[in-house]
Amino acid sequence: MNQLNRSAILLISLFGIIAYATTAFSQELVVYSARNDHLIKPVFELYKKETGVTIKYITDKAPVLLQRIKAEGSNTPADLLITVDAGNLWHAAKEGVLHPVESEVLAANIPSHLRDLDNRWFGLSLRARTVVYSTERVKTGELTTYEDLANPEWKGRLVLRTSKKVYNQSLVAMLIKEHGVTKTAEIVKGWVDNLAAPPFSNDTKTMEAIIAGQGDVGIVNTYYFGRLAKVDPNIPIALFWPNQSTGGVHVNVSGAGVVAASKNKDSAIAFLEWLSTESAQQIFADVNMEYPVNPNVPINPTVAVWGSFKQSEINLANAGENQTAAIQLMDRVGYN
Ligand code: FE
Repeated sequence: MNQLNRSAILLISLFGIIAYATTAFSQELVVYSARNDHLIKPVFELYKKETGVTIKYITDKAPVLLQRIKAEGSNTPADLLITVDAGNLWHAAKEGVLHPVESEVLAANIPSHLRDLDNRWFGLSLRARTVVYSTERVKTGELTTYEDLANPEWKGRLVLRTSKKVYNQSLVAMLIKEHGVTKTAEIVKGWVDNLAAPPFSNDTKTMEAIIAGQGDVGIVNTYYFGRLAKVDPNIPIALFWPNQSTGGVHVNVSGAGVVAASKNKDSAIAFLEWLSTESAQQIFADVNMEYPVNPNVPINPTVAVWGSFKQSEINLANAGENQTAAIQLMDRVGYN
């Protein structure tokens, strides 16, 4: 082969690579997000800055977005679905709208209990659903486990958020995985018997009830505590890490999956992988005072002061698998 031919071939293959790169990698992605606008926007803006890729998005409740993706079918513009709570991600996977992603990057960056074993969804930020207590009326030695809150010494002292919230459904679903239905029903019945007030509509109201002296102890997501403590650092409540000598603290995630009908799967996967890396992880966790799922990424100092804890390492798919059983169980024992 002469020099001219060789250069020609080189040039042709170079054009081929460029053509491939431009067709395979879209410069625009569409995200359907159940995570609020102000929590996702900074991450999307950073991605645009780093890669030039524009992220268009809509936000709505997870079930609405799931229905929309199903209704749009093969015409959906969605490339990535972001939701909070593994129960919601599990549902999306079960409905067949998520594409399995085999990725060494995601496998390395995200601990296996925080992602789908069939690789259809991946946790991106971690929230702990832990015990919160009155620093005026509870001594830390009194607290031990979630299960212990069912014991008679907490009679008339426990406050809880409604069982209608997926966070509590996931908590109970994970207890079912650990203890079975019968024992979990005993525990949850014990909680109901110990309630100081009817369940509250959200975690903030649950904590406000403790601050107001209506109850002494409750179960909340840590970032809601963070929001209250940011406004008033002297609130008379504190977080406690239960189950440290047993299964660990109940955790959950916000996470994402690539939409099965996406026409930009390669770019969507690249974006998902980027979301598991340091710069993205830091913002994704920090904006909501959550924990990065990637264990190599430092925890925000405001969050780190709450202390370190052992987390449950039961795979979060169980939150979805046992969700119906959890709802039925809570209904049966009168947890509204
Ligand atoms: Fe929340």
